[in-house]
Amino acid sequence: MKPKYYVTTAIDYVNAAPHIGHALEKIAADIFARYYRLKGHDVFFLTGVDEHGSKVEKAAKAKGLEPQAFCDEMAAKFQDAWKQLNLSYNRFIRTTDEKHCSAVQELFQIMEKKGDIYKNTYKGLYCEGCEDFVRERDLDEDGNCPNHKQPPIMCLEENYFFKLTKYKDKLRKWLTDNPDVLIPDGRRKEVLNQLDDEEFGDFSVTRARSSLSWGIPVPNSPDQVIYVWIDALSNYLTGVGYGDNKEQFEKFWPADLHLIGKDITKFHAIYWPAMLMAADLPLPKRISVHGFLTVEGQKISKSLGNVIDPKQLVERFGADAVRFYLFAAAPFDKDGDFSHEDFLNKVNSELANNLGNLLNRTLTLVGRNCDGKVPDGQFENNLREESNEIHAVVEKHMRQCEFAKAIEAIFALVDQANKYMNDEKPWTLFKEGNAAQGKTVLYTVLDILRRTAIEIYPFTPALAQTIWYQLGFDDKLDELKAEGAWDLIPAGQAVRNEGPIFKRIEEVTA
Ligand SMILES: [Zn+2]
Repeated sequence: MKPKYYVTTAIDYVNAAPHIGHALEKIAADIFARYYRLKGHDVFFLTGVDEHGSKVEKAAKAKGLEPQAFCDEMAAKFQDAWKQLNLSYNRFIRTTDEKHCSAVQELFQIMEKKGDIYKNTYKGLYCEGCEDFVRERDLDEDGNCPNHKQPPIMCLEENYFFKLTKYKDKLRKWLTDNPDVLIPDGRRKEVLNQLDDEEFGDFSVTRARSSLSWGIPVPNSPDQVIYVWIDALSNYLTGVGYGDNKEQFEKFWPADLHLIGKDITKFHAIYWPAMLMAADLPLPKRISVHGFLTVEGQKISKSLGNVIDPKQLVERFGADAVRFYLFAAAPFDKDGDFSHEDFLNKVNSELANNLGNLLNRTLTLVGRNCDGKVPDGQFENNLREESNEIHAVVEKHMRQCEFAKAIEAIFALVDQANKYMNDEKPWTLFKEGNAAQGKTVLYTVLDILRRTAIEIYPFTPALAQTIWYQLGFDDKLDELKAEGAWDLIPAGQAVRNEGPIFKRIEEVTA
């Protein structure tokens, strides 16, 4: 039986349209989905949107729409943007999906029956931006939430609470015994410190309907609405069939990877596993926390006017260029920057020059000297070893979500192939009558290009497919079988030299 792989993204609020910052995480999930499919896994890739909450309700009102009609409009925008970026998700979940709502209620009752959800009066400061209670000591000097630069409101409400304190020791043990479960390690240490905080306590899981009406009602308690954390986090269960498709759920749960932004680490590494413990469900195998994207060195914000619509970027430069740049430019776990100049430099030098020219000149030489067919040559031993080593390096980095390093390794091999070609000068070899060596050089470079197409496929799927096609293969990389993926390029296969696979981008303006 095929091994399974289940990858998820955080679900974005639909109160604003998707921007390039949202896209980063979704593309990362797609990279893994494609990477594991290629490795022969049965993959489930879940993404979606969070449609509940007061932010969404307010945004709908501002547009003069009913919340559901507004959500329908916005969800379509997200799906459209992800389609443009060539995301191969299996399901796009919306938290207003009927089956999600009923499963969330079911889960709530399971935890309540267990005694892990209870009613209490809450009095405290609450930030509407964070959608969470905040502590006095975390406010900035003006008394504002440091993330949202707005004052919290005093909140006094009767709510349902989740008994988080009951799971404190179990959470600590889980995070300590499994140092790989939350990466990068700095985030894990941060969460362990939060567990030891003196103010660590139970958290509220509902709001009064009077303060939040756009949400899932609490079963048997119509004056209460299930608050964001149980509702949103449960999408990872309901998205793969919890409460709906038992067979699929049991096959894919627990998640192999939750990809999340650094601002929601606490909720995913503390609240979420505790809820799963309460529901007697297995815990996710790994949570990977990524940094945020800035644009030209500045935080992405509407007021700064630097919100990049991924759709427009794709329309101008193509999905592959955007996908490649976002992961080549910066380490995933750190904050990265989207700079137009750097973007053009990177995609031109790596995709157009380094890789594109190598393919183009190799195919031209094959046309001129080998009747347009893969020559009957040997694979140069040194380079063969090197390419095997690089593959192992790529695998190691992928396990750690180190995309930039994986890309660097892939392009190091392309560099090697370019250097080998320049040193060996096959055009001279053929001219001087040393066709055997000339064929060896071309054969070696053709096979490195074949390997490169497979290695970069998760990052730049369409570009990889074009390379594959020009090398003479007819099958789809999407459907490539793991067993056959690393066979050598067959001699005698007719190549297709159809011109540059990636045209240099000349424009510089934003
Ligand atoms: Zn806040």
